[in-house]
Amino acid sequence: MPADAVTMEKIVALCKRRGFIFQSSEIYGGLASTYDYGHYGVMLKSNVKAEWWRAVVQERDDVVALDAAILMHPRTWEASGHLAGFTDPLVDCRTCKQRFRADHLGDLQCGQKPSKHPGEGPDCDLTDARDFNLMFQTTMGPVKDEGATVYLRPETAQGIFVNFKNVMQFARKRPPFGIAQVGKSFRNEITPGNFIFRTREFEQMEIEFFVPPAEAAEWHERWMEDRMRWYTDLGIRSDHLQLREHGPDELSHYSSATSDVEYLFPMGWSELEGIANRGDFDLTQHAEYSGQKLDYVDPSTGERYVPHVIEPSAGADRATLAFMVDAYDEEEVEGRERVVLRLHPRMAPVKVAVLPLLNKEGQPELAREVYEDLRKRMPADFDAGGSIGKRYRRQDEIGTPWGVTVDHQTMADRTVTLRDRDSLEQTRLAIDDLGAELERRLAAPWRSPKP
Ligand code: ATP
Repeated sequence: MPADAVTMEKIVALCKRRGFIFQSSEIYGGLASTYDYGHYGVMLKSNVKAEWWRAVVQERDDVVALDAAILMHPRTWEASGHLAGFTDPLVDCRTCKQRFRADHLGDLQCGQKPSKHPGEGPDCDLTDARDFNLMFQTTMGPVKDEGATVYLRPETAQGIFVNFKNVMQFARKRPPFGIAQVGKSFRNEITPGNFIFRTREFEQMEIEFFVPPAEAAEWHERWMEDRMRWYTDLGIRSDHLQLREHGPDELSHYSSATSDVEYLFPMGWSELEGIANRGDFDLTQHAEYSGQKLDYVDPSTGERYVPHVIEPSAGADRATLAFMVDAYDEEEVEGRERVVLRLHPRMAPVKVAVLPLLNKEGQPELAREVYEDLRKRMPADFDAGGSIGKRYRRQDEIGTPWGVTVDHQTMADRTVTLRDRDSLEQTRLAIDDLGAELERRLAAPWRSPKP
């Protein structure tokens, strides 16, 4: 594979420089591993979520949407097994006072000697591993007494399971059908890191797909194919994406098969999305703990069964990071280095930038008119400040696929130049044809020009 210019440091610097993502609470020195999304970051992550909704709900007949509350009845977490078992093994170092995930020591740095892993330095003194529950607790209501403890959900999935009956009744669906949800989840991760890859507050995009038990294996296969295609259709290079099947030692006790979609991040192959065959574990547990029947009776055969569940579970922030990493490129153009985000046009925060060549002769006024017309059709930027080269560099760095320049000739014949971010090709066309041409390009299939 040819060398890629991207590093995590370059992505972090670009995100700060162009206002995609900032350290949270920066003016107070920052809160570790929490991040705030600025204008272009919000637009990029919204596109990730919108493309997910489009693929899993809008373009299918068998999946409906849900938006459940973050706070749930505490019994939920007893039934799901999170209260007893959602733990990671934690070790402390008595010397440097840092905490590490015992099963990730090989990926982590010693607190005193960063070239070594924890436990390998001469002064390391690690405790035995103990289980640490990752759920954040809080108190419901003004009195902090017994029974008032609630949890910030560590996954959106449980909101779907507890609504299974509601949705089945009101959406008039029967298995095979699914429920999709996007929302915040919280995990008190022991070792967050790699920018927005692992944080304590993050957004998930999850589907629980309910199927007749005999069809579970087949639906698992179909979802793996569908989800891999989603990433590559949106421009992720296929040689940077892989499906990795969990070994028997990695599988949760209830899962008969799980595969991770992995992306080749700068720190190596890492999970983007898990696709699990969860059997009937979740509905059976909630039926037992709630005392409600959560099974399905097939009206044509009279057969009663608890549906099995296929769960494609993705992270919106991780996916956003993967799209940025995959798009990041550097090249030399006419003796000048340029940084460019070669995002799929549908992912790009801004689709078109309208730039007057000169800040006079009526060019800014006409450019603004063109911009106001285009922004009704797609996200657009107007930029009249600074040299044209500098303005293009700014747009390249935020991944804007097309630039429109209003120049001297525009004033005479109402034509503009349309510049392509990747090929740098410039074409001249009439202002009146611009909107339709951009919409045509936006709908066309796209492949990354990166090797
Ligand atoms: P990991 O092994 O990386 O901790 P996981 O297997 O616990 O992940 P799941 O419970 O399967 O993760 O969650 C589904 C998806 O949610 C992950 O594939 C990832 O995209 C996202 N996700 C999970 N934890 C985090 C986190 N701490 N920060 C950002 N995204 C996360």
